[in-house]
Amino acid sequence: MSHLSNKDLEQFRQRLLAYLAEVKQEIHDRLVNEGTDESISLAGKVHDAQAESMSVAMSQINRGMLKMYLHDLKDLEMALERIDSGEYGICIDCDEPIARARLDAYPMAKRCIKCQSLREQD
Ligand SMILES: [Zn+2]
Repeated sequence: MSHLSNKDLEQFRQRLLAYLAEVKQEIHDRLVNEGTDESISLAGKVHDAQAESMSVAMSQINRGMLKMYLHDLKDLEMALERIDSGEYGICIDCDEPIARARLDAYPMAKRCIKCQSLREQD
């Protein structure tokens, strides 16, 4: 059970959706800037695509920034799915609620601070 109210969840959903649109726009613009036939044709599909199919299609032209946006895109999609499934705001490693301040700062967070820092030490 989430520690967030439906109203909170709705606010996070709106923020995530807004960020998702931004990230897709960035990917789109960067692909257009690449200027190859392949990247331009991919750019036309960005807005309807899921992260998974994007990442397969982009493996050919995957560069630093694009990779980063693609990573964000996956995290955003996962966070939105977790809102729908009622798991949003719960740490995927320890099942404890993720601190509200952390979610406010980073709405895609899927781990609590403790688990995240453990992971980063690996
Ligand atoms: Zn945790």
